[in-house]
Amino acid sequence: MIGKHFSEEMIIGYLYHTLTDARREEMDVHLLACPHCRNVLAAHEAQQKQIDLALKQTIMNAPASAPVSFAAIAPQLRSGVRLSARWERLVNGFTVATAVSGLILALLSLFPLVQLFWAWDLHLAATDPLPTIASVCFGLATVGQFERRPGISFSHLLASVLTLLLWLGTAVIGLQNILVLRDLFMWVVMVQGSTPQAALRMSPLAVLPAAILWVIVVIGGAEYHRRRIGQRESWRLLALTIVIQLLLLLLPRFLF
Ligand SMILES: [Zn+2]
Repeated sequence: MIGKHFSEEMIIGYLYHTLTDARREEMDVHLLACPHCRNVLAAHEAQQKQIDLALKQTIMNAPASAPVSFAAIAPQLRSGVRLSARWERLVNGFTVATAVSGLILALLSLFPLVQLFWAWDLHLAATDPLPTIASVCFGLATVGQFERRPGISFSHLLASVLTLLLWLGTAVIGLQNILVLRDLFMWVVMVQGSTPQAALRMSPLAVLPAAILWVIVVIGGAEYHRRRIGQRESWRLLALTIVIQLLLLLLPRFLF
């Protein structure tokens, strides 16, 4: 209370019902007897009503915003989606074509491989570029899968086809890897002083474990990918397989 009257804050508190009951009763009694405080209260009440009214008028007079309907924004949305879908289709087509090319190259590289198993030639094995090019194709087809936004036009079918192509491709390149491992083994044996004929006779020591590993990786990989088609882990394992295979293919070029 200021002197014998209530403060402005108290009167505003009375108006907005923020006072305690005791304070409120005290003020009720005072207001009955005090025209000054009644006037101050009335002035604040009038001001509050004016603010209310002005606010309502502002809201009423505000220009209604244009109705946002799906039809209104659809053209913009659709053109954006259509462009990216076309782009995705192009990328998908290129990806599958790359994987198919890789598989064809890998299969073609098997013909000299069959001959090499009977007549061994380090030089020939190390310089056949087909498996390396095939591996690079598989790598390109796999790398694109990591940046893919989920959902857009990359169907489960397409992911399955691509996974199958890459799995088959890595299986074929795996056969080339067995040959490389055999060559590396024979090279080590010959460096020890053996003749090529003796090294060739010992080569099953490298070929058999490599072949068993190949079977395990091919069958295990099939099971792993089948459960995770189109998922990041599946692409990651394919990428890892391809990188290891590529390094193995390139190794003889540095050694022989
Ligand atoms: Zn008063």
